[in-house]
Amino acid sequence: MTDRATPVPPDRRAELAAGLARVRARIADACAAAGRDHTEVTMIAVTKTYPASDVVALAGLGVPDMGENRDQEAAPKAAEVAAAGAHPRWHFIGQLQRNKCRSVVRYADVVHSVDSVRLAGALGVAAERGRDRPLEVLVQVSIDGDPARGGALPGSADPERGLDRVAEAVAAAGPLRLAGLMAVAPLGWEPERAFATLAGVAEGFRAAHPQAVALSAGMSGDLEAAIAYGATHVRVGSALLGMRPTLR
Ligand SMILES: *Cc1c(COP(=O)(O)O)cnc(C)c1O
Repeated sequence: MTDRATPVPPDRRAELAAGLARVRARIADACAAAGRDHTEVTMIAVTKTYPASDVVALAGLGVPDMGENRDQEAAPKAAEVAAAGAHPRWHFIGQLQRNKCRSVVRYADVVHSVDSVRLAGALGVAAERGRDRPLEVLVQVSIDGDPARGGALPGSADPERGLDRVAEAVAAAGPLRLAGLMAVAPLGWEPERAFATLAGVAEGFRAAHPQAVALSAGMSGDLEAAIAYGATHVRVGSALLGMRPTLR
């Protein structure tokens, strides 16, 4: 099919293919070291700040999962990618404001970043109105328990941010499917310590929610440690696409 709106320059395609080969090799090595099958780990290509043509190129290289962290950027990019004839699974991985839920439910297949009861409720209402199939949700969990940063709080009875309360709110929302947990290693923590802590939280979580087996953890710099501690999804941006011009 012709693709005038979103052409992929051949040099860029080769660059992305090389990045993809490197990241896939890292994932395969990490799985082998952990005694896991590489099919247990899904790589999400984090395409924030990169153009729709990169998404189309990655889809053409056999990457089915893409991640974005800002609705303002993701919504038009998803539309452009669809118009070019590619249909990846979109993962929304960034902090989500309640007034963006209506937009996000139209293109996202998975939301990784639900960390409050109110956000779960808003997303459920938006999904009920704005889509005709369930939306997968991961609860973002705080590894260091710092309430000033993002993430639901394990072991906390806080009615708004306690992990159990947030998970119950997701499970209670008809159009949402509680699929698992997501986390980002806190700044200044050794990845091994962060992901070992997360693995403990995930184990308790799965005992209460046996179907919620997804564990989204690990980025370009720490995906090996995340895989060693049970990640089922790694979110890889710069190692695949190159350094981003701005930090977000
Ligand atoms: C940007 C981002 C990533 C990818 O980060 P890299 O270091 O570029 O791999 C992963 N997770 C989240 C939540 C992000 O915002």
